Amino acid sequence: MNSHATQPSAAELPGAAAPASRPDRRPPDTCSRRNFLAKLGALSVGTTACAVGPARGADATPGARQLVADVLVIGGGTAGTIAAIQAGRLGVRTILVEAGSQLGGTTTTAGVDFPGLFHAWGKQIIAGIGWELVTQAVELNSDQLPNFSIPTGAQHWKHQVRISGALYAALAEDACLKAGVQLRYYEAPSAVENTADGWKVRLVGKGTQVDVLARQLVDCTGNAAVIGLLGLARQRDAVTQPGTLIYRLGGYHLDGIDAATLSKLELQAREAVQQGRLLATDYNGSLRGFLRAGGENAMHVPGADSSTSETHAQTNIRGRQALLRMLRFLKPQPDFEHLKIERLQAETGVRETYRIVGETTVTLADYVEGRKFPDAVAHSFYPIDLHEERGVRPKHLTQDVVPTLPLGALIPKGSRNLLVAGRCLSSDRLANSALRVQASCMAMGQAAGVTAALAARAGVSPQQVPLGEIRKTLQAHGAIVPAA
Ligand SMILES: Cc1cc2nc3c(=O)[nH]c(=O)nc-3n(C[C@H](O)[C@H](O)[C@H](O)COP(=O)(O)OP(=O)(O)OC[C@H]3O[C@@H](n4cnc5c(N)ncnc54)[C@H](O)[C@@H]3O)c2cc1C
Repeated sequence: MNSHATQPSAAELPGAAAPASRPDRRPPDTCSRRNFLAKLGALSVGTTACAVGPARGADATPGARQLVADVLVIGGGTAGTIAAIQAGRLGVRTILVEAGSQLGGTTTTAGVDFPGLFHAWGKQIIAGIGWELVTQAVELNSDQLPNFSIPTGAQHWKHQVRISGALYAALAEDACLKAGVQLRYYEAPSAVENTADGWKVRLVGKGTQVDVLARQLVDCTGNAAVIGLLGLARQRDAVTQPGTLIYRLGGYHLDGIDAATLSKLELQAREAVQQGRLLATDYNGSLRGFLRAGGENAMHVPGADSSTSETHAQTNIRGRQALLRMLRFLKPQPDFEHLKIERLQAETGVRETYRIVGETTVTLADYVEGRKFPDAVAHSFYPIDLHEERGVRPKHLTQDVVPTLPLGALIPKGSRNLLVAGRCLSSDRLANSALRVQASCMAMGQAAGVTAALAARAGVSPQQVPLGEIRKTLQAHGAIVPAA
């Protein structure tokens, strides 16, 4: 498995367990809700988190505005959007910070606009806020849900739901606004501190610098970026799965190209690889397969990494270079004179970077055996799906197995007032290759949103929120919770 985890002692870490004598304290709420609403329009979109003007006190930085929130979610992607909507719907002051320009993350910006899997073995196993947004997107765009009553066999993707990513982003934003979530785009945390008043998170954006005092912090960055800032343990394998720049080519008719011409083209592609004009990963080594798909999810970007601005920028550049190589190879060929790009995403999708080291780690055995964790808060369902440079061979689950996700995998080991949701949950690499899919990320986002909101309300850490309360609240908000 070649996993190298760095695990400093939790007691030495910022953000690790507070001394037992320190009571959980609510951040100062120095403005009334009405007062706050009056001020808010000038600050950003949303309604409930409180802006209190320049920070004061010994550790306040001159010039930085200070906000307070009950729940601060960092990363408005597949999981984080749902976590924030859920916390907002429970009436707690919620701020959602997204480094990009829209919500949805990999589902929208990277164009993986085919979320799954909400159904297993003929039954719906994930619902709730993610399902609500997905079905709204289908309906508003006159798209169609798959027929979930038809078994897919090994073609599990047939139960993924095709949506418009752009519409999903707009609907997710609308749901955040309606839930009173304050949205902060184009910002990212530069420092996180565990203070006597709660988390103090410095957010930096284009011409903005804001300190947020928050009771509960939820890391939904996909890379466990907040956990990294805190110096808490993260793990990552020496080799990670490749990424994919999703684009679609058109302007050619594969059916009109005879077999001999296609075979010749396949050989020419191999020659181009030998000459360095193409990389085999630009088309996953099968030009026929690539052309049949029109590109889409049929290329790989090796070494893709979104965990820093530098590595993410390189990953995007390498994706676009791969596209240009392919266009320059195909365009001069007969049958491709009218080649065109029909769709091109702004970011390369990244499958894997860091995972946290949690109170519980979901292993491959847990997943394939469908272990019922005592603190299960959601289901997950997908084949083991580890992509290698030239492709993927999914390993399907045994009939009737439906894995579960424990709350403990969302809680960094030894931490307080801290949760993660999304692909960076605590899991081994092979379990993660299945757990990371979107319906599962949405379900864990909703579980994290409920837990963070209940913890903030009660002034306790997520570990101390009674499981029965979490499950009951999730069900009241439409989620499907594994039987206790
Ligand atoms: C090419 C590809 C194909 C896939 N195929 C499928 C599939 O067929 N079906 C399926 O269901 N799943 C699929 N997946 C997996 C799935 O899409 C992802 O694992 C899942 O969407 C990850 O969700 P997340 O919330 O963890 O991260 P993301 O959705 O990536 O969200 C993370 C968000 O955090 C933001 N962010 C990051 N760092 C910061 C920061 N420091 N400050 C503020 N914001 C930050 C990002 O901008 C982003 O919006 C695929 C993934 C890829 C890449």
